[in-house]
Amino acid sequence: MHCPKCAIDLNDDVPKCPSCGFCIDDLNADLGTPKEKTGLIMDWAGVISDDAKQKLNGRLQHFATRTGSEFLIATIQTTTPRLPSEYVFWLLNRWQVGGPTHSGLLLLLALQERRIEVEVGYSLERFVTDDAATLILQNHAVPFLKAGDVDGGLFHASDVLARIVEEGLDEEKKS
Ligand SMILES: [Zn+2]
Repeated sequence: MHCPKCAIDLNDDVPKCPSCGFCIDDLNADLGTPKEKTGLIMDWAGVISDDAKQKLNGRLQHFATRTGSEFLIATIQTTTPRLPSEYVFWLLNRWQVGGPTHSGLLLLLALQERRIEVEVGYSLERFVTDDAATLILQNHAVPFLKAGDVDGGLFHASDVLARIVEEGLDEEKKS
């Protein structure tokens, strides 16, 4: 887990960022209690088509079966009063995506902010660094989103992210 502002490592022993003072408790104060996790896809903004939802759900389920990790997707109208990067960090933590070792990913689309963010749990960061995740979203989600294709953007970005983790785990098993 990293500080969403300065990318310094945060964990249970170091819950407060030594650089900027960011602390997850501050987010709780602003954001309250998260909405319930009801499945693999929480389309709160109502922007994913039914067909795409089915296809995405299949992809995320395949990922879960193959890796034992968890990959969730959420869409939201706005993350106000916080940044999307802070919101996705907070939600991954509050939901305990991927269990206590944070073996999971959470992809978040914030409509009003026009931002797509992914938070990678710390036990998967060896496969997908923050920088790599940013690049993947820029290359595999943003072009679709700019063209108004939310379904395509979410599917391609999550497919690439899932594949990197799947192949990384396979490689580790081999060695
Ligand atoms: Zn910080």
